[in-house]
Amino acid sequence: MSIEIDHISKYFDSTKVLNDISLDISTGEMVALLGPSGSGKTTLLRIIAGLEHHNSGYLRFGGRDVSHIHARDRKVGFVFQHYALFRHMTVADNIAFGLTVLPRRERPNGAAIRQKVVRLLEMVQLGHLANRYPSQLSGGQKQRVALARALAVEPEMLLLDEPFGALDAQVRKELRRWLRQLHDDLKFTSVFVTHDQEEAMEVADRVVVMSQGNIEQVGTPAEVWREPASRFVLEFMGEVN
Ligand code: ADP
Repeated sequence: MSIEIDHISKYFDSTKVLNDISLDISTGEMVALLGPSGSGKTTLLRIIAGLEHHNSGYLRFGGRDVSHIHARDRKVGFVFQHYALFRHMTVADNIAFGLTVLPRRERPNGAAIRQKVVRLLEMVQLGHLANRYPSQLSGGQKQRVALARALAVEPEMLLLDEPFGALDAQVRKELRRWLRQLHDDLKFTSVFVTHDQEEAMEVADRVVVMSQGNIEQVGTPAEVWREPASRFVLEFMGEVN
């Protein structure tokens, strides 16, 4: 599903946090929103998800205005930095959750849900941990469960907010390679927020560099790296986390 962000602005009280943002994301593309803390990345992601409303401009999925469509009807999978798994549920039940709360006419029966969970567990390579609880998993494993849960409802796009931010460097590296592979296999549209230049450069098809509610540059990782569009981009890309 393509995403069209058309002159979107957002205020919190009287503070403007997104300033007339326009960006087209193609179906199947993986885009990184990259910028320092407070630049508006999460707010933009939450607007795409339908968790936050913009004050002006248009948001379209596949050419259709979705401004008034509720988050749960947008066919969007969401993964947060801090897992947000249900602690009292096993891995399998966490993954099944999104399916069990679908409207009745879309909800698979119990056997179909179990089958699907088995497939998803294989996809995220956690079949052996189906009956564990989140407290018995490592951070990387929890985040793979969160991804499987987001994918269970077959979203047309996946939105990720600093998905690997809480993990150590080695696990981060593994997971981002794995996410890219999953993206290529399943061909969904992905938008992920990061403040980590290396992560954006390594994983994304295109990088959107943000600063203070503005888009400073949009380009492939090579373009942003070789031809920074402003002093801000040049300096930000040169910083090491
Ligand atoms: P980033 O993801 O780049 O760190 P955010 O989108 O979280 O940036 O925040 C952008 C700006 O909006 C920040 O100045 C932040 O303090 C402000 N902001 C974010 N959410 C809220 C909110 N719910 N109420 C008021 N201000 C907010």
